[in-house]
Amino acid sequence: MKMTIYSCETHINHALDVFVAREGEFPIMELLSDDKKLSTSCTYCEEAALYIVANK
Ligand SMILES: [Zn+2]
Repeated sequence: MKMTIYSCETHINHALDVFVAREGEFPIMELLSDDKKLSTSCTYCEEAALYIVANK
């Protein structure tokens, strides 16, 4: 199953923990592009997302 988490700086460790717990493998972690940073908020708070955590 495809899983995608957007995360700010504060929640990136939590996002990685949640991903590994659910998927049983380490995710791909990438920086969001500048245009997406402006329009995407963190999955866990209202901050702008900096990272995208997902499987391939
Ligand atoms: Zn956050």
